[in-house]
Amino acid sequence: MDAIVKKIAPDAAVRPSREQAEEAVRVLLRWAGDDPKREGLLDTPKRVVNSYKELFAGYDADTDEVLGRTFEEVGGYEDMVLVRDIPFFSHCEHHMLPVIGKAHVAYLPDGRVLGLSKIARIVDVFARRLQTQEAMTAQIADAISESLQPLGVAVFIEAEHMCMAMRGVQKSGSTTLTTTFTGSFKANATEQVRFMTMVRSR
Ligand SMILES: [Zn+2]
Repeated sequence: MDAIVKKIAPDAAVRPSREQAEEAVRVLLRWAGDDPKREGLLDTPKRVVNSYKELFAGYDADTDEVLGRTFEEVGGYEDMVLVRDIPFFSHCEHHMLPVIGKAHVAYLPDGRVLGLSKIARIVDVFARRLQTQEAMTAQIADAISESLQPLGVAVFIEAEHMCMAMRGVQKSGSTTLTTTFTGSFKANATEQVRFMTMVRSR
């Protein structure tokens, strides 16, 4: 697999200007069959570009910065830490259509733990890029692994892909499940079962 992509935003010099991005939206509006000059669409390119800033903010985020280098002492705690049901919105890299899902992330600490909010934030960093679900699952696991160096990381993502629901095969309601296990989770099937049981317990 590729090394973790910590930050991949190009230099300002390579990035198109806001005006160029808005013009590209006008081109797509014409391609869809509409008239970018009609009143209801006049501000649409500006709004789309603004929303891209937010939806794709993950390109400008640095995973090291998000996870930080400050870890809390565990005070003797050495069992699994699981944050489940982390909602996210992403976009598939094939159609740029939304992917809506939940991530469940666990690790087995090796003397140190992460602030819990950081796990949710790292999910957002990778979700706010163009993604495949498989790559996103692995990237979250790798980023936590590299930064915290725990005994193992487990990531389970369940998501619905709008490119399947709205177009193509039009299978709305179908969910795609992906998992990545590292370290003790990878080596020990019992740990995987324990993780899945905790994710599913209600
Ligand atoms: Zn797609």
